Amino acid sequence: MARKYFVQTFGCQMNYHDSERIAGLLEREGLVPSAVPADADVVVINTCSVREKAEDKLYTELGEVRELARETGRDPIVVVAGCVAQQEGERLLKRDASIDVVVGTQSLKQLPSLIASAADRRHPVIDVQPYDDVSFPLGVARPSDPARAWVTIIEGCNEFCSFCVVPYTRGHERMRPSADILAEVGHAAASGLCEVQLLGQIVNHYQAPDDPSCDFSELLRRVAAVDGIRRVRFASPHPRHVSDRLIDALRDEPALCRHLHLPVQSGSNRILKTMRRRYSREEYLDLLDTLRERVPGIALSTDIIVGFPGETDEDFALTMDLIRQARYHSMFSFKYSSRPGTLAGKRYPDDVLEAVKTERIVALQRLQAAIQIELFAGMIGEVHDVLIDGVSRRRDWEVTGRTPGNTVVNVEAPTAWIGRIIPVRITGYGPNSLRGETLATVQQEQEPLHAR
Ligand code: SAM
Ligand code: SF4
Repeated sequence: MARKYFVQTFGCQMNYHDSERIAGLLEREGLVPSAVPADADVVVINTCSVREKAEDKLYTELGEVRELARETGRDPIVVVAGCVAQQEGERLLKRDASIDVVVGTQSLKQLPSLIASAADRRHPVIDVQPYDDVSFPLGVARPSDPARAWVTIIEGCNEFCSFCVVPYTRGHERMRPSADILAEVGHAAASGLCEVQLLGQIVNHYQAPDDPSCDFSELLRRVAAVDGIRRVRFASPHPRHVSDRLIDALRDEPALCRHLHLPVQSGSNRILKTMRRRYSREEYLDLLDTLRERVPGIALSTDIIVGFPGETDEDFALTMDLIRQARYHSMFSFKYSSRPGTLAGKRYPDDVLEAVKTERIVALQRLQAAIQIELFAGMIGEVHDVLIDGVSRRRDWEVTGRTPGNTVVNVEAPTAWIGRIIPVRITGYGPNSLRGETLATVQQEQEPLHAR
């Protein structure tokens, strides 16, 4: 009987995509996926260390794996991958004897051979070396999304924002050749996926190492031109690298979704400076004005950190004011978490009380919820092309999808439409999503995907 694997993923899209790569590497070795860890021969925990809470999940998960092993009498090979693996290395093995393999963010391709070395159980194995090689074999990653492919274009980050652990856990910035990226996009389209999402911690800093004429905006145009690709997205761009050429591409290229996730982090210039974000509140707000002027209908979203060291009530009031002005379609917000090795972690005491961080995040989310409701109410009656990507979480007779602006829409439609783009009229909304009715006909449904 084939051996089984189970992958538990924490963190960002980059990590979810790494898990697709892990799944593919293990399947190439003959392993098959298991829906639960209880009957897996290999359990991989793919970790995140961007915030302390995310890091803690590893230790909870390891406890559960040990408990399961006791209950079932099985003894799976336990692999810790991702940012915590990269950051903690040998310390993980000292802390938890149930770990067999530690594999860093840059050595994923070594995973099958590491598992083979650990199989005799004489000693745990570890590879947290930095590797400059960013190649990955074509067609090996197992897509986990029925509608879209994730394609990494840059690994690592050189930006060193003072709060952020990513440059330490994912290493320095390394660009993938445009030829590899386009081959991967072509492969995704040929397998029926019509949306591609390009990934990088600072995705808009891309410059092809194999073609001086291919910057990020040119790459977007080339990806959009791949036969079968109908939508292109990317995450996460940095505000200071949004170029005129990128704005032109967003305006001109129909396959490029009119959505930009632009993490601002704070509305206070004093805090932005200590965060080392390298833009001011005024420059950021000017950029939003330019985007809205030149790309009509563009939807914007952001990330905010509350309670960064030294954040006063006045600083926070400036963040609230920026949110009021920006009118984002969505927002991710986080309480500051001091990270080992970062500039802020070393230099600035984590001095905003937990209760104050909570108060601020609650106020922020309440404000954003009110803005979102106003924006959603204004969308009633509009028709949007929605890429259907799954069954609705709340009602299993509905499917769910996303507008080009990245807003979730629930609609009554057959599950056979998952992976298709259909026109939907917006009829209602909840706090975080829209409801709609499909304008697609059965005849359209029967046409092959790429004919439309
Ligand atoms: N590269 C992206 C950028 O430039 O904004 C962000 C990537 S980071 C993995 C995702 C988000 O996590 C950040 O935008 C930030 O809001 C949040 N984050 C990162 N470090 C954090 C920390 N130490 N405490 C709280 N939130 C943090
Ligand atoms: Fe972290 Fe800043 Fe790099 Fe984003 S740009 S990954 S926040 S260091």
